[in-house]
Parts: sequence; structure tokens; C-alpha cells
Amino acid sequence: SFPLLIRDITVDTSKCKVGCIDCEEACPLDLIKVTVLTPDGKPVENLEALGEAEKKKLKVNVEIEKDRCPCCRLCEFKCPEGAISVRKIFTGKIRVNREKCPEGCRDCVDVCPITGALYVSEKDGKVYADERFCVYCGACKIACPVEDAITVERTRINHTVVRSGAWNKALEKLASPLVVTKELKARGAVKALEAAEKRMQWRKP
Ligand code: SF4
Ligand code: SF4
Repeated sequence: SFPLLIRDITVDTSKCKVGCIDCEEACPLDLIKVTVLTPDGKPVENLEALGEAEKKKLKVNVEIEKDRCPCCRLCEFKCPEGAISVRKIFTGKIRVNREKCPEGCRDCVDVCPITGALYVSEKDGKVYADERFCVYCGACKIACPVEDAITVERTRINHTVVRSGAWNKALEKLASPLVVTKELKARGAVKALEAAEKRMQWRKP
């Protein structure tokens, strides 16, 4: 059987407020489309033209392109109603060794595809990682000009059950940052993000 990454995302639209598009705005990959529907399922074009009584009857539909989603959880954290739940595909650890960062270097922040997974602190102007949103793609490690200034470790993949030994080996490789880093480095730092995106299956072919 072919192992598939599990993209465990649920949306309880009964909690959504009509007019809210916070998740749509939060998604760094533009994968969410929120629409408001009439009781008979027709999309509402001009919400502002409706009165409060009419608005109460409307429903919200949240469409997510799940097959491209790296499960960063930004939408879950930005939703003010607690309507979205996302389980990460990869579990892992990321560390920034700030002592090693060259003054003013932002290469990792620039390459990171997930808004806020890496950020520059207003307090000390240094780079920090926010584990809540990191998808452990490794692009930052490849872009970083200093050996070991960033470490990215993947410890578990959320995938469908497989019994084949060959597939389990392949999955082990996918979880191993050492192997992935080697592979990405071989492709050149400039291509690091593209390679990471492809590997994580969130870029359209
Ligand atoms: S988990 Fe991240 S990438 Fe996926 S839909 Fe939510 S915000 Fe977008
Ligand atoms: S591993 Fe990927 S998602 Fe996480 S901080 Fe680095 S570039 Fe961003």
C-alpha cells in the first residue's frame, strides 16, 4: 500500500461569524477561500447590502486546498472562534543558535514559507523560531550561511499505515533531516525552498 501524508484539518463552520475571513488572510500559501451562502446555498455577492436579520440566516463555507497544505496551523491560531483544528504532518524541533548568526543576517527568515515560523525580535533584533508554526521543511537550514546556526529535526510523520519494509525505510529517510539536508544541498541553496516545497507536496506540479 502507498503511504500518504495525513493532512488532518477540520473546520466547524457552525462557529464561524459571517463576514470573518481571518483564516483566509492568515494562510501563507493562499489555500483558503471563505464564502458566505444563502440558506439555499447560493454565494452572497454583496454582504454589506444585507440587513442584520438577513445576515443571521446566512451560512459560512470554508474551502481549504488540503492536498497542498503543509499543516502549519496558522489558520487554527488566527481563527478567533476556535473553528479550525490542524494536526501537524511533521513533529520535530527547530533551534536557532543566535550566537552564530552574522550581524543583520535574515536569510532564514526570507526563505521561510510560513509567516511567523521565524521572526526577528523587536527586543534584540535577533532571529527566533516559533515552533507552533514551523513545518520542519528545512529550507532555513539550507539558506543559512553558517554551519549549525540552525538545527531542524524531524521526529515523526503523520502518514497512513504501511506494512512494507521498503516504504518504511523511505519514510524514515523523509523524516531524517540529515538525509534531506544532504539532498537539498546537492540541489543548490537557491533551489532549497522549491525543493522543500516539492518534498512537502504543497507546491502545484
Ligand atoms: S494549516 Fe497553514 S497552509 Fe494549511 S490551510 Fe491553514 S494556514 Fe494554510
Ligand atoms: S523549517 Fe521550514 S517552516 Fe520551519 S522555520 Fe525553517 S523554513 Fe520555516
